[in-house]
Amino acid sequence: MSIESRFQPLLKQRAQQHLYRQRPLTFSAQQPEMQINGLPVINFSSNDYLGLANDPQIKEAVIKGLQDTNLSYGSGAAHLVTGHHLHHHLLEDEIADWLGAERALLFSTGYMANLAVQQTLMQKGDTILADKLNHASLIDGALHSEANLKRYPHLDMKALERRLQKIETGQALITTDGVFSMDGDIAPLTQILTLSESQQAWLMVDDAHGFGMLGQQGKGCFDVLNLKPTTNTILVGTLGKAFGTSGAFVAGSQTLIESLIQFARPYIYTTAMSPINALASRTALKRVIEAKSERERLKQHIQTFREGAQSLGLQLWPSQSAIQPIILGSSALAIAWSEALKKKGFWVTAIRPPTVPAGQARLRVTLSASHSTEQLDALLLALKQVQESEKHQEPL
Ligand SMILES: *Cc1c(COP(=O)(O)O)cnc(C)c1O
Repeated sequence: MSIESRFQPLLKQRAQQHLYRQRPLTFSAQQPEMQINGLPVINFSSNDYLGLANDPQIKEAVIKGLQDTNLSYGSGAAHLVTGHHLHHHLLEDEIADWLGAERALLFSTGYMANLAVQQTLMQKGDTILADKLNHASLIDGALHSEANLKRYPHLDMKALERRLQKIETGQALITTDGVFSMDGDIAPLTQILTLSESQQAWLMVDDAHGFGMLGQQGKGCFDVLNLKPTTNTILVGTLGKAFGTSGAFVAGSQTLIESLIQFARPYIYTTAMSPINALASRTALKRVIEAKSERERLKQHIQTFREGAQSLGLQLWPSQSAIQPIILGSSALAIAWSEALKKKGFWVTAIRPPTVPAGQARLRVTLSASHSTEQLDALLLALKQVQESEKHQEPL
């Protein structure tokens, strides 16, 4: 069979289901005002919650770094070969200090960190208990490990407890997003931590969207809930969201980190991130820690948006984070709204199955401290106009 004959029908089917994906092309820096696919738009879709992706101080650090004769752009090799530069090492120490963890370890992406942790920690006969709405990379990590995967309904603590109690042999690991990436709600970590302790399960929290956005110094969900990770807690964060750079980290005990260095294939068999990116991320961490006023501003934006959208009667999700989905139901409707908003100058991505459950297609509005209140008000007005014009359309 040719590639052609296998995939042409699948591509056609995707298009008919309104699920065909395209990569919006931009010539702009990552910021609220952008040109995307040639259209001037206000961007309400990025994960750049603090506006650090285009931060002058981070750019400045990169320029200085490039002029430093002790720094190359390329890392040249994996960490265990010759790629582990002082700036990687310092960034790890600084992340560990920031979170009060014994150690931290850098990864090239959050996706790889999630594969690495689960493949390394879990053995045959073990069980991974995962929230149904966990990020795809957590799910893939579980599927690529040797453990059994059991998913529990979103945030359902009773179901989690029942599944935990049913486990007779092997180690259990609970995995959850901190802030859920498509829903914006926060995992009930107080209960999850108590459950994990009482059942001797380990706990892995992927706080990709919580770090930087929530808590004092942006320390994420644990901080906002006044919790302390235990020695059996694994924290995963990405540098690609609020930090505005790229890469990821795992934070936890000395033994956890050493085990990852020894055994994690997605750590061992890949080139280290650029040391310049590590340097940029060190500056980003400083900016994250001091971004108190940005976090305040973001909180204000979240409140303004929710009040505005609710007064329009739009269906929001119980989210106190910068991720604010507007549930529309069908993929076709989500696309129609997204397209109508584009024409009015707002970039708001439609999120469709399989990224979210069938029947829950949505607009995923993400807010950033870098948005102005005028931009936010303009979005609410545009939503109102789209809502009104959709009322006069034939049902899709
Ligand atoms: C974005 C995201 C990841 C992946 O991180 P990358 O660094 O982009 O690979 C992992 N987990 C969650 C919850 C995410 O939202």
